[in-house]
Amino acid sequence: MIVGKKVLPETLISQLIAPCGMNCGLCLAYHRKKKPCVGCNGDNTDKPRHCVTCRIKHCDELKTAGEAFCFACGHFPCQRLRRLDTRYRLKYRMSLVENLRNLQEIGIERFMALEKKRWACSECGGVLCVHEANCLYCGHDRS
Ligand code: SF4
Ligand code: SF4
Ligand SMILES: [Zn+2]
Repeated sequence: MIVGKKVLPETLISQLIAPCGMNCGLCLAYHRKKKPCVGCNGDNTDKPRHCVTCRIKHCDELKTAGEAFCFACGHFPCQRLRRLDTRYRLKYRMSLVENLRNLQEIGIERFMALEKKRWACSECGGVLCVHEANCLYCGHDRS
């Protein structure tokens, strides 16, 4: 994977937070040089198919809740979301459900401020990728 220009924490904007609690600014596809994905809430041009057809993003309950995030749904956290959350916790050591609970409690502005600190590489200052154990820009081990 060839990465593009270093992504900096201050560029992590609230629009990058997907309904499931994923911060798309931490995704490998967002950091790649060639045809980077602009995130779940952006256009579909360079999005992988599984994200274009994502059943969480297009969930009717989300539309009914009239909110941008799953925490507003009466079924939260539903089985579908819990399954994705389990995968992320086990594979990438990040919980989407925990993200959503924090987001609900502290609001998007404070959540984004914390994300900017949490995901900044202590070596080079770039944004860490949740899908990789090492910083994409300097190789620093994020564990
Ligand atoms: S590939 Fe999916 S998870 Fe990654 S940035 Fe794009 S929409 Fe977000
Ligand atoms: S938590 Fe609610 S809105 Fe989100 S995917 Fe599940 S049923 Fe749909
Ligand atoms: Zn780094």
